Amino acid sequence: MALSASIDTREPSVRIEPSRASLAPTRARGGSNDAFSFWKLPQDWEAALECEIAESKAIAQHYLFEEYLAREDRRPPSRMQAYYAIKSLIPAAVRHRLNSAAIKMRAKREFPRWPCESALVDYWRDWLRISLHALKMSDAWHIGFWPDGMKSCIVLTHDVESPLGMSRMERMADLEERYNFRSSWNLPLAQYEIDWKLVERLRQRGFEFGAHGLSHDGRFFRSESDFTELAPLLQERAREHGLNGFRAPSTLRRGEWITRLSFDFDCSFSDSDPYEPQPGGTCSVFPFFLAHMVELPYTMPQDHTLIHLLHRSPMEIWAMKAKWIESLGGMILTLVHPDYCGSGNYLDEYENLLKQLNDFQSAWRALPSEVSAWWRCRDRMQLTVRGDFPSIAGPGSDRAVARMLSSEPLVD
Ligand SMILES: [Zn+2]
Repeated sequence: MALSASIDTREPSVRIEPSRASLAPTRARGGSNDAFSFWKLPQDWEAALECEIAESKAIAQHYLFEEYLAREDRRPPSRMQAYYAIKSLIPAAVRHRLNSAAIKMRAKREFPRWPCESALVDYWRDWLRISLHALKMSDAWHIGFWPDGMKSCIVLTHDVESPLGMSRMERMADLEERYNFRSSWNLPLAQYEIDWKLVERLRQRGFEFGAHGLSHDGRFFRSESDFTELAPLLQERAREHGLNGFRAPSTLRRGEWITRLSFDFDCSFSDSDPYEPQPGGTCSVFPFFLAHMVELPYTMPQDHTLIHLLHRSPMEIWAMKAKWIESLGGMILTLVHPDYCGSGNYLDEYENLLKQLNDFQSAWRALPSEVSAWWRCRDRMQLTVRGDFPSIAGPGSDRAVARMLSSEPLVD
């Protein structure tokens, strides 16, 4: 189906009821990140592939949990503390210049490559080829990655860093609505006064909200005692305002501590981002499980990085990366700040991105909570093949589609 105009007139994306992972002590069950669970192959193959599956779990973990980094690089750098002590005294423009200079001085990392790192995608593909070969198969059914036969996924997210950003939200939301998108907005819950009436208005229009920690002061993951003190406060405020998703401020993170939080999903990791204060990346352009949470890594370069650190026009890199992820059937997850992109030329750039995404006809447009709910359901589904007829059982299976592996762009 071709689009005659750039505005999509289809109905909003079909909703999967988000698992209302409460912030209560009973936590949702997480799933597995091994290759068999990723591909969702016929269930009765599992026993025959036992060794391959066990090995794939360790290899996937190496990428997904950034285990290729030294342990001290999987936490906020200690030098950041000196920066945060004086951050509020430095005007934003000077701060951007200093950060940009610091990025240029930083030793270039070979891995993960930026903006596209295919190591994990290559691994999934190789594992499949070797496993099919071991089973003397050339092709097979699997459970499609996305519901309703969709071939890729688009998730739009924003972090709102200041009252200025907040004042620009409705305009950005209007723009997204014109292209029939809805997005998610993450708010720091103890940094500035939040206009909860505005939040409610946007919720009524189908937008979603998450917790962007408490403040961009570098404290949350600084030390065990800071975390122990601040986490209950964060959880309480998130519960009060019905926020089920989390993204760490400045993406400063400790994976093992994030899993102690009671959110439904987390968005603090990237697939590849060497430009954040804590560089790294999961190499994944698909969701995965972070203990009981679903991890939704942002997979598109941040506007802040492109504009303020690299001094590049965002659209060129956005267009290339979005196309790459779409060609793999993965999840395009944007992180754009209304503070930087909410007006003027940069808002035009963002509109250009929306136009491009609007042309991806077979992409599932979803909110983070919907992707999380889907990924949990898909993990629990079971595929059975009798003769040439696949059938899928489990929660949400009415929206799941069995597809031949050879029809998946990821396999090609
Ligand atoms: Zn932020």
